[in-house]
Amino acid sequence: MRILITGANRGLGLALSQVGAERGHHILAGVRDAEQGRGKLSELEFSKSISIVSLDVTKEDSVLQAANFVKEHFGSIDAIINNAGILLERDKTIEDLNLEEVQLSFDVNLFGPMRVVKHFLPLLLMGDSSSIINISSEAGSFENAYGGDYAYASSKTALNMFSEQLSNYVKEKNIQVYAVHPGWIQTDMGGVNAPGNPIETAKGIFDLIEKRKIVESKYCFINHDGSPMPI
Ligand code: NDP
Repeated sequence: MRILITGANRGLGLALSQVGAERGHHILAGVRDAEQGRGKLSELEFSKSISIVSLDVTKEDSVLQAANFVKEHFGSIDAIINNAGILLERDKTIEDLNLEEVQLSFDVNLFGPMRVVKHFLPLLLMGDSSSIINISSEAGSFENAYGGDYAYASSKTALNMFSEQLSNYVKEKNIQVYAVHPGWIQTDMGGVNAPGNPIETAKGIFDLIEKRKIVESKYCFINHDGSPMPI
């Protein structure tokens, strides 16, 4: 399969690139800094199966150019993993909240996947059976609304809604859509104390794409092991 991954240069995106390439897929590694991204990705064992694509999810021009580049050089794609994300304004009270940072959070975490799907969906529709994986977070669940994570949590809740809407839109077109909680994992965002390993999460996500798991969930918001997440 040919698979686009955003934010592929570090953290979960890098782990997804590694696992996908190891499993024999052609990875289109979306990175906003092509030079820095190439450096890290080229160290991977299966780097020959990885093509770098310049892609900043906050810029529609960049996403459109990336889609045109992929269409011209590779044709269709089989899956999109909207992985790029940012965590800002954690533990801020509403009185102290910087609204520009909230907007930036939505720009990356929600509008980013929207831009990518908008411009890459035609390439996905060329395949027989495709997947869209939006990397979400348990922070977006109502059960975790502790009252101090307005920017990140709200953007992920909205991403879950976008995923559900999209799922219903493309169901007839043989495209499966999931909003996936990756677990608390060791990355720059997750920190060194996180219990989870991004490689294990990446394996779970590829099991979903490869349809090795039967997912029994009313909604598309699920854990990386395929079990339903609370809305
Ligand atoms: P990291 O902070 O380690 O990596 C974030 C990635 O997103 C980087 O590759 C970064 O690129 C990229 N990125 C940020 N902004 C943009 C942009 N405008 N355009 C393109 N790429 C961008 O995060 P993780 O790997 O931990 O997170 C991956 C996903 O998993 C995110 O969606 C996150 O919300 C989610 N998640 C993570 C959890 C965890 O415990 N780590 C828990 C729950 C969810 P650059 O290097 O250029 O900045």
